[in-house]
Amino acid sequence: MSDCIFCKIAAGEIAADFVYQDDDVVAFRDITPQAPTHVLIIPRRHISTLLDATPESGPLLGRMQQAAVEVARREGLAERGFRLVTNCLEEAGQSVFHIHLHLLGGRRLSWPPG
Ligand code: AMP
Repeated sequence: MSDCIFCKIAAGEIAADFVYQDDDVVAFRDITPQAPTHVLIIPRRHISTLLDATPESGPLLGRMQQAAVEVARREGLAERGFRLVTNCLEEAGQSVFHIHLHLLGGRRLSWPPG
């Protein structure tokens, strides 16, 4: 989508601090980190929200999870733990309408979330 900031990051049109890239998925550091490690994992293909994912999106969602775990290992979080979060629509806090996983770690994370 031409006006989507995450599409532009995936296309290399907007700079980001990339930590992982493959044919389907890219990951980069969140510009407003909420934890010592805060990485966003996004599909290159535009999907606005989880509600827009279809059964055909399943393998891509799996690739995102696998990429997130790979980044977590690289960030040294495999021993201490980490959290993956997807916000869906405004009430959950979604502000960018291109699906993404937040990978959070490097500090103790409280539960339930705010
Ligand atoms: P959400 O609010 O769940 O949709 O998450 C969107 C995330 O994208 C927020 O944590 C923002 O800080 C982050 N973000 C927005 N613009 C950028 C950007 N240009 N580079 C990196 N992270 C960004």
